[in-house]
Amino acid sequence: MKLGAIEAGGTKFVCGIGNEDGEVIERISIPTTTPEETMRHVVDYFKEKKVNALGVGSFGPVDLDVSSATYGYITSTPKEHWNQYDLLGELKKHFQVPIGFDTDVNAAALGESLWGAAKGLDSCLYMTVGTGIGVGAVSEGKLVHGMLHPEMGHILVRRHVEDHFAGSCPFHGDCLEGMASGPAIEARWGKKGVELASDLEVWELEAYYLAQALMNYILVLSPKRIVIGGGVMKQEHLFPLVRNGVVQLLNGYIQHENVLNQIERYIVPPDLGDNAGLCGALALARQEYTIKKTS
Ligand code: ADP
Ligand code: ZN
Repeated sequence: MKLGAIEAGGTKFVCGIGNEDGEVIERISIPTTTPEETMRHVVDYFKEKKVNALGVGSFGPVDLDVSSATYGYITSTPKEHWNQYDLLGELKKHFQVPIGFDTDVNAAALGESLWGAAKGLDSCLYMTVGTGIGVGAVSEGKLVHGMLHPEMGHILVRRHVEDHFAGSCPFHGDCLEGMASGPAIEARWGKKGVELASDLEVWELEAYYLAQALMNYILVLSPKRIVIGGGVMKQEHLFPLVRNGVVQLLNGYIQHENVLNQIERYIVPPDLGDNAGLCGALALARQEYTIKKTS
């Protein structure tokens, strides 16, 4: 099966072709400018490819309610020109194939659960710690949507007593994203994360916030595995700090092997590497194709 994948990001749109096993055959990258210009390149790329289905993992927030008049729109983004943009509608104008549409992090969660670090599990979380913090969830084999879609990057966390940084979230100040995203690290310490690599204090504080978030996700959703990616997690020494933080915070309350003895297999980096976003979109294409074929 020939599947088309679109990783729609605020900086770039990555488009590619792959198959139902998550193998990416080719890919291109298009800078995100205006919707008209960006989508013209996207449509041109797929025009002659004759894909059986398309999948789109998009930056958000997006409207995922199929009964809504604005289903498939990017909704209240601060990103110029893209506010209330009908991304799915534009694709449907050009391609009469099943098109799966979801958040970028939900796509990544589905991709990791099909082919990556959570393969074989019917539940997992995928968290990205980058320019923002986003989390996608697979639960009982399905992506979690609900009223809109979960926004687990903006949960409240307990401030460290010695941390006087106001927080960088324009909506909430010191929510998780406001305290622990890449831009939050840069604003707090006056340097980019990559330049702070050897400063243990930075990463202990980062892990302090991330561990709280993971504890909350574990208590609310009970995921069978947690995959954490994004630019900030390139600091690999964060993983043991975060794992230890989670074990300490849970304090023996969750009596499960994953937490008690196998935490390094429970909280893990992504397995799909540079293709994680595209594989996620392929997974959405595959899912939509299957749904349409059986309905
Ligand atoms: P995006 O979230 O925009 O898709 P990334 O996941 O690459 O992109 O996240 C970008 C953020 O991650 C920036 O704030 C950047 O400073 C930070 N970052 C990127 N690489 C590293 C690194 N090696 N160490 C620490 N922080 C990093
Ligand atoms: Zn926030």
